[in-house]
Amino acid sequence: MGCVKCGETAYKSVTSEAIELGFGLLVIRNIPCYKCEVCDEILYTGDVVQRIEAIVSEAKQLMQALRVIDYDEAA
Ligand SMILES: [Zn+2]
Repeated sequence: MGCVKCGETAYKSVTSEAIELGFGLLVIRNIPCYKCEVCDEILYTGDVVQRIEAIVSEAKQLMQALRVIDYDEAA
């Protein structure tokens, strides 16, 4: 796989991604990726991009389900 930035060869690797969700920070670890040896550019395949999007939307739903309820506001 070629680097989109410099055209050098990118090798299989794993990385972490921190995504701001508005109400908190989601960190996804061990994401399979390709990493350029020259400029450290990280490349994801289409499958991985889709998976990350699925994780993000799942996390948003989960965070809403587990949101903190203020004692005085609860019925
Ligand atoms: Zn590069």
